[in-house]
Amino acid sequence: MAVLRNQQTRQRDLLNVPVVGRFLRWKHARTSMQAVLLAVSALILYDGFWGPQLAPKNLAGVLPWVHWRGFVVLALLIAGNLFCMACPFMLPRRLAKKLFPADRPWPTFIRSKWLAIGVLLVFFWAYEAFDLWASPWLTAWVALTYFVAAFAIDGIFKGAAFCKYVCPIGQFHFVHSMVSPLEVKVRQPDICGSCPTKDCIKGRYGPVAEPSLRHSGTSRNPDERDKPRQAQVSHLLRHSRESSPRAGARNPSSDEQRPQAGMREVTKSPSQPARSVAMPAGLQLVQSGCELWLFQEGKVGNMDCTFCLDCIQACPFDNVGIQLRAPTSEFRRLDQWHSGVGTLVKRADVAALVFVLVFAAFVNAFGMVAPVYVLEQWLATQLGVTSEPVVLGILFIVGLVALPFVLVTAAAWSSRALVGGNETLAATATRFSFAFIPIALGMWLAHYGFHFLIGALTVIPVMQSFLADFGVPILGDPQWELAAIVPEAWLVPLELLLLELGVLVSLTAGYRIARSRQSSAARAIRCLLPWAVLIVALFFTGAWLMTQPMEMRGTILG
Ligand code: SF4
Ligand code: SF4
Repeated sequence: MAVLRNQQTRQRDLLNVPVVGRFLRWKHARTSMQAVLLAVSALILYDGFWGPQLAPKNLAGVLPWVHWRGFVVLALLIAGNLFCMACPFMLPRRLAKKLFPADRPWPTFIRSKWLAIGVLLVFFWAYEAFDLWASPWLTAWVALTYFVAAFAIDGIFKGAAFCKYVCPIGQFHFVHSMVSPLEVKVRQPDICGSCPTKDCIKGRYGPVAEPSLRHSGTSRNPDERDKPRQAQVSHLLRHSRESSPRAGARNPSSDEQRPQAGMREVTKSPSQPARSVAMPAGLQLVQSGCELWLFQEGKVGNMDCTFCLDCIQACPFDNVGIQLRAPTSEFRRLDQWHSGVGTLVKRADVAALVFVLVFAAFVNAFGMVAPVYVLEQWLATQLGVTSEPVVLGILFIVGLVALPFVLVTAAAWSSRALVGGNETLAATATRFSFAFIPIALGMWLAHYGFHFLIGALTVIPVMQSFLADFGVPILGDPQWELAAIVPEAWLVPLELLLLELGVLVSLTAGYRIARSRQSSAARAIRCLLPWAVLIVALFFTGAWLMTQPMEMRGTILG
């Protein structure tokens, strides 16, 4: 039975897909992807600072706001957090780790998502207030600030503090990848139970030339190369079955909810990133373990996982994979202790992050339809304010903070009133916050998909123009008429389809969350009702937004 389960796990593992799997196992896979995106970032910075300042004719006006945003939301839907995997900001960050001690612990009082929520709110406001999408120069400054911040923060602090506690792009990916179909996950928990090294979290140490267990053989035959590892795995499994009472019978309701002995050794709580495993004397780190402090044996889901694959490279037993899963399966484990994250239902900061991103999906789209100007004008007249950034600031505080707070509190109160129980309103709201992620992803997809579909080909003339300005017109004259990749008539039906998918998955996830706490289906439906009303209201808001005339940002037509 265990063998069959292991076989099924391997079949659903991206690392076992020909070509793709081989590439991802390659030690330099991530660096090569980051190098490509770093080169693209360099082009964006150059063109942003010194190129033409008409956004649709500049790489900084097109690549980040049309292509990158379209790709990342699509990647979240069909795979997972692929942007963090290839993130170009990681290369200067790694340089900082080499140049500076990077030995300070991240301050305790900001070991949460609150700082990142603040940065996200400022970013969403600045995007509209200063029309970042229309200014290649400001876009380049934003990108440069990002590089400097990642370099400075990770040059001072231990681990991946920037990714985990600051980066607003990372938070966007962490939250939405909770409904992605792929997860970096242990293949055989039994092996971890008896693992003597825990390299996936503490890293692998050795002389630089020391061959790893996985890459130890010089043989070109993969079977031959894997023999030492297979022998180690067999030994560990034997040992595990003989000595560990929980081996082969991992009980999610008991041991998975609590940190195991090994976990306590390396990650005591989500707020304690410091790893207490001492560095072996006379050796040096040859492969980092998880810098986000997610210990594989207790890791659950995608929250805080950058898909960096360090754990895959570090595990000497090839026991970590990128596994296929049901997109909402993570929500069955909200009460379970997650290594490096804690128990999600107790993380009010994570719930606040989720709700900010959910409402931002709609407010962000609202910022590009005609009615926003009517509302802005009315608000400016009522308050006697003439500054657009101030008016937008008020709109964003209402739309991303005040309104969500009132609606979520009302839904939590109604839900509790309908079924009783002694859970606090904050805990109920935190629990159900995760049900809103699919509808938010549907809205981001509809919105960013719209820009991508109507502007995907703009990169061709922009690149032609960029090279021509450089005196190397090898791609010919710019063909500015190139823009859309689908007929305009397809846009609204496609957007509505994405929203419909989002609302259906949100309602299903909401029901599962409700059912996990309620004794009957009828009680679960009553408990879900107020949340379902809010989810459906968001769906209709999104549908209305998508049928409004929109600014064609990122194209000459815009
Ligand atoms: S993932 Fe690998 S290194 Fe980590 S505990 Fe399991 S077997 Fe050990
Ligand atoms: S090392 Fe940590 S962040 Fe990277 S893929 Fe593994 S679990 Fe995710």
